Amino acid sequence: MIDTHAHLDFENFKEDQKEVIERFFLNNQNGYIINIGVDFDRNLKSIELAEKHERIFSAIGFHPEVLDENHKVFCLKEAKLQLEKLATNMKVVAIGEIGLDYFHNSKNKEKQKKLFVSQLDLALKLNLPVVIHCRDAYEDVFEIISQKKYINLNMVMHCFGANLKQTENFLTLKNLKFSFTGNTTFPKKEDTEIFKVIKTIPVERIMVETDCPFLAPNPHRGKRNEPLFVKEVIQKVAYLKECSFEEFRESVDRNAIDFFNLK
Ligand SMILES: [Zn+2]
Repeated sequence: MIDTHAHLDFENFKEDQKEVIERFFLNNQNGYIINIGVDFDRNLKSIELAEKHERIFSAIGFHPEVLDENHKVFCLKEAKLQLEKLATNMKVVAIGEIGLDYFHNSKNKEKQKKLFVSQLDLALKLNLPVVIHCRDAYEDVFEIISQKKYINLNMVMHCFGANLKQTENFLTLKNLKFSFTGNTTFPKKEDTEIFKVIKTIPVERIMVETDCPFLAPNPHRGKRNEPLFVKEVIQKVAYLKECSFEEFRESVDRNAIDFFNLK
């Protein structure tokens, strides 16, 4: 099992990070965790963690929330310099998470777009895949990533939650993958839109993640999430794709290994 999106450097794991990691790799020796950076400090912490564990890798990037007024003054130039410098580290396998979040803040859209685009351009230059965060901004994210210059850039929409119509558009981007997390285990009705969305996406383009400490899947909903719980996500999405657990797990593992170029 591979958890393609975790935040094990967050305070939530301060007390028992080691045990959480051990639990994941017990009976899962061939697994991997991709730990995701979000700002200056977390990018460093994420790499530090990856350097301690053979099977943990890191993405580095600046989440749109770094632009909020309650954060210290953000300097784009410095941010890009940090990414270029850290990207030379062998444990860095992607740029992310980067993107647009209008749920969190819809008053700084232009600033968010500028930050997003400059990191996409950097990923192109560094030849690294991209992990995209998108909330209430599917139209604008699509408009940006569907530009011709990004046609060969490998990207994944993390915690994908677009509607069917938007998904049709995203599916036209051949190098785009779709990652699902614990929220797929919440709805009960069979005709829920997210289920229909999952059914339209080919297995070859799906990845799974926890986004821990957030979004713990059922039956852990409401508690702190952790990489081991990616199992529940695999189970749910496998069911929707009418695959066995093992068959689906093998596919999503392969997709993640290829996408992040893990070895
Ligand atoms: Zn995340």
